[in-house]
Amino acid sequence: MKRVLVFEAHGDDMEFFAGGTIAKFAAAGHEVTLVCATDNDKGSFELSAQEMRAVRDQELLGAASVLGVKRVIPLGYADGDLGYADPRVLRGQFMRAIREVKPDICMTWDPFTHYEGHPDHRAVATAASEAMSFAHFPNFYPEHADDGLPPHYVGEHWFFAKAPRDQNKFVDIDTTIDRKIEALCQHEAQMVLTVMDLQHHVRASGLDVPFLAGRSAHDFAPVIEQMMKRAGEAVAKRSGLGCRYAEGFRRARFGGIEAWAPGQTIAEDV
Ligand SMILES: [Zn+2]
Repeated sequence: MKRVLVFEAHGDDMEFFAGGTIAKFAAAGHEVTLVCATDNDKGSFELSAQEMRAVRDQELLGAASVLGVKRVIPLGYADGDLGYADPRVLRGQFMRAIREVKPDICMTWDPFTHYEGHPDHRAVATAASEAMSFAHFPNFYPEHADDGLPPHYVGEHWFFAKAPRDQNKFVDIDTTIDRKIEALCQHEAQMVLTVMDLQHHVRASGLDVPFLAGRSAHDFAPVIEQMMKRAGEAVAKRSGLGCRYAEGFRRARFGGIEAWAPGQTIAEDV
């Protein structure tokens, strides 16, 4: 059994890019923990921030349970403002989670890809990748040891991105794509927002897309299904796995130690 720890900015980040993979990890008996940095209160054209905070925590837990995530740790930072929080504090909170959960594998936004427009994603990417790189260094945040949390080494770093680069790990999600879509649909407020945002694009572009334009945003499930299947097919095509749907990651394993062990391979977990 491996432990997997995911760092995301918003409930649904993980589901969009890694939901099928996470469901596969969980189904294989691995233990998944999710850290969600913000309170998700900006993502709506309909609900106030206060109304959002009331529903988003439930949606976060609902989606996690569909994927088999064992534990969710919400940090409650203000949505959209994470880039303006103290990065040293955020990195310390992520490192504390690593030292507590003791993961074999950490996953987060890739800090080294282009065109990431959301400041929360960039903040999580930077803080989490630093936390997973240095959590085994005792002189980083030595106060954690006083709380009974010793340094911990994270062997595998998995990164997802909107505009991915250098992906070297692909996961066949044919058996879990339905679970991924079901988990996304648990994020009702966020999926309504997703469809309404697509409708903004349709209106502004002047294009004719009746499937989107003529739809109540609350009837989001067919849109999300089509969106995820299309994305999964595109990754599968690139992956060379021969499957119908896939997810892709840039993965760094054990500091590249394989170069010291010619002829040996490290087993795959999913
Ligand atoms: Zn996000």
